[in-house]
Amino acid sequence: MTTGIILVVSAPSGAGKSTLCHALLERRPNLRGSISCTTRPPRSGEVNGRDYVFLSETDFLRKINEGALVEWARVHDHLYGTPKDPLTENLRKGFDVVLNIDPQGALSVRKIFPESVLVFIYPPSWGILENRLRHRGQDDEKTMAKRLTNARKEMTYLRHYDYAVVNDRLDEAVDDLLAILRAEHRRTGRLSNELSELEKKQK
Ligand code: 5GP
Repeated sequence: MTTGIILVVSAPSGAGKSTLCHALLERRPNLRGSISCTTRPPRSGEVNGRDYVFLSETDFLRKINEGALVEWARVHDHLYGTPKDPLTENLRKGFDVVLNIDPQGALSVRKIFPESVLVFIYPPSWGILENRLRHRGQDDEKTMAKRLTNARKEMTYLRHYDYAVVNDRLDEAVDDLLAILRAEHRRTGRLSNELSELEKKQK
C-alpha cells in the first residue's frame, strides 16, 4: 500500500499561505489538512477545532509530555504544534497531508519524515507583504512590527526547502503546488513497490 506525502508549506505571515492551503485542499481531493494546537488566543471568526485547537499553556505542555505532538515551536510568543495521530492515520490511509507550519516546525518534520516535501511560499515583494499585513487589520502596530521582523528571519530558512513558490496570483501558486505534488508522486523512490511488480512481469 502506498502512503501519502507530507507537504510542508511555510511562509512569512501575510504571504497568503492560509488562503493558498484552502484553495489547494479544494482542488485536490486526496489531500487533507492538519489542525494545529496553539496557545494563541483565537482571532475573530476563528473556530476552535476548525482553525486551531486553542489550548492553555498548561494543556499544551501536557500534550508535549504525552508525546501527542509530532513537532512544536514557539512562534510570535505562542506555542504551536502538530498533532501526531491524525497525521499518521491520514498517511496510513494513503492521503497526502499539508502542514501549514513555521520553518522550525518544517525542519523538525523533515528530521522525522525525511521523505516529506518542503515548500516555501514567498511574497512578490516586501512592500506587498507589509500591505497585506496592514490590510488584514487583525493585528495592532506592535504585533505587526513583530510579524515583519519575524518574516525577515523566516526568509533566511528559504534554502532548507525543496521548492520556493511565489504567491503573486493565487491560482498560479496553487497550480505550482499541484505540480509539485504530482511530480513527487512520480519519484521512482516512492514507487518502488509498483516498479518492482513491473520489473517482475518483464522477466
Ligand atoms: P498564526 O498565528 O498567524 O495563525 O500562525 C503563526 C505562525 O505559526 C505561522 O507561521 C504558522 O505557519 C505557524 N504554525 C501554525 N501551526 C503550527 C504548528 O503546528 N507548528 C509550527 N511549528 N508552526 C505552526
